[in-house]
Amino acid sequence: MKRKLFAILTLLCTFLLCIALFTACNEEHEHSYTEEIVTEATCTKDGEKRFTCTCGDTYKHNHTRQRDEYR
Ligand SMILES: [Zn+2]
Repeated sequence: MKRKLFAILTLLCTFLLCIALFTACNEEHEHSYTEEIVTEATCTKDGEKRFTCTCGDTYKHNHTRQRDEYR
């Protein structure tokens, strides 16, 4: 029973590794940005977020202030 589980986990790990390698080797790099809050949005002010990709590409985006209608 445990051996079967181990086999499944190994297979899953290999599968995930293949996907990771395929993504890494893919020339058409798909940006994967990590969100980072630069300025927190308040009721009166817009906040600013910075998105950083693993390739070093970054961009900033203003996230709108918290509005009541979005509740
Ligand atoms: Zn990128």
